[in-house]
Amino acid sequence: MKTRPWLVVPVVVALLGAACQSAHTQPSQKPQVIAVPQDEMTRGTNSISPVQVDSTPVMQAPAAETTTGPKRLSYNSCNVDGPYIALTFDDGPHATLTPKLLDILKEKGVKATFFVLGECVAANPEVLQRAAAEGHEIGNHSWDHKALTKSGGSGVASEINRTNAAIESSTGKKPTLVRPPYGATNSTITKRLNEEFGLKVIMWDVDPLDWKNRNSEHVKSEILKATKAGSIVLSHDIHPTTVDAMAATIDALKEKGFKFVTVSELIAMDRPLPAATPTPVAPAPTAKKPKK
Ligand SMILES: [Zn+2]
Repeated sequence: MKTRPWLVVPVVVALLGAACQSAHTQPSQKPQVIAVPQDEMTRGTNSISPVQVDSTPVMQAPAAETTTGPKRLSYNSCNVDGPYIALTFDDGPHATLTPKLLDILKEKGVKATFFVLGECVAANPEVLQRAAAEGHEIGNHSWDHKALTKSGGSGVASEINRTNAAIESSTGKKPTLVRPPYGATNSTITKRLNEEFGLKVIMWDVDPLDWKNRNSEHVKSEILKATKAGSIVLSHDIHPTTVDAMAATIDALKEKGFKFVTVSELIAMDRPLPAATPTPVAPAPTAKKPKK
């Protein structure tokens, strides 16, 4: 009886230790969670701008991603003049898989963006340091993957600030991007992330569901199917199948003519779609519209 606590403690420690490798990908967690981004994005960005409203992590309705507003607080993809895309990897850095991915990215000459968990940065600071040193962008993905919508006001601040501090101490740079865990945000949080923390909110428009479909060929084909110019591609560098898929995925994307940039570089190229202004375009269509 007296020894029981001693039996329990190592188990707990072992689970905590494993958190940066797999805890956020347990099937029991994610499916329930993946519904959140769509709901949250629909609800959450409504009052910010019409831009992200119906851009679920699927790839329909590119027109809905337009904005003519002066400043976007949140991005699912960008409207760019050229075949530029951003690969993003979440939930690391992982002790072994992230370095393996970094080797692939280096070999292929590709710059990516990593949305990292503070607790994983604390566990693997040298991995993050390497990623930053090799030209990849680092964004905040919270400390321990708690939904910001469930964290409360001071909870959000803690998730963001602790992670920013961990990133900064490892890379020397303060992030300018955040991806809320599960994509779960709302207009208040998105605004706060921008205004209080100086972080643009980055969602995605291509999602191979790599946490669910642990199959490299599937990951590759889903990404190839959905990626278009300006896409932000979501995957996770904590799954061997995802990392294994990347060399061939990158080769195939290159064959299709895509060029790889970081999310901030993609955003820098973002421009409003002209479609939002119906009036001055051409005189001919006006004359052609007899009924509507
Ligand atoms: Zn995540």
